[in-house]
Amino acid sequence: MTHYLHKGDLPDDLDLGSVVAIDSETMGLRLRRDPLCVVQLSSGDGNAHLVQLDRTAYDAPNLKRLLTDPKVLKLFHFGRFDIAMFLLHLGVLTAPVYCTKIASKLARTYTDRHGLKDVTRELLQVELSKAQQSSDWGADSLSNDQMAYAASDVLHLHALRTRLDTMLVREGRMDLATACFAFLPHRAALDLAGWEDNDIFAHM
Ligand code: MN
Repeated sequence: MTHYLHKGDLPDDLDLGSVVAIDSETMGLRLRRDPLCVVQLSSGDGNAHLVQLDRTAYDAPNLKRLLTDPKVLKLFHFGRFDIAMFLLHLGVLTAPVYCTKIASKLARTYTDRHGLKDVTRELLQVELSKAQQSSDWGADSLSNDQMAYAASDVLHLHALRTRLDTMLVREGRMDLATACFAFLPHRAALDLAGWEDNDIFAHM
């Protein structure tokens, strides 16, 4: 089931548990040009909560509390972008986090296909539709197709994490993954601080 929260915040009494899958939709992929529009969340129970933000104020205290709650692990696929968007528009640094794209890159070294669609197809035999990916997320209210697409991006992250964790342990890379997840919020902060196109670990 998909719960749609129009121009608002998460409900006061909603408990999504200790591991929450999160994704967001924006007007585009350029950080400062393209505003944050929608944040999708799931506890892994098959339900998705879609928060369409009020872009005049980005006033969503319950969402911000969840993003920064040290007892709640936030699951993303390419969290670097979502975390930077949240830092820019909501003013909070999301932590602690897990990223299924980083896990995939560390575990699935036999391929360079680490998009959510590819990873979900291989590890879960689930075919995700990307038809609504580039639609107008700034519209006053979301269409049924947009809601279904937005929900589908968070409904499989818990299962993906389980599969990827098994592979990371098998390949002896869990410690490396954990260290990368701990650094990820700071990588996103570096993007916002002006090091977006610059790898500070590179020689040049
Ligand atoms: Mn998405």
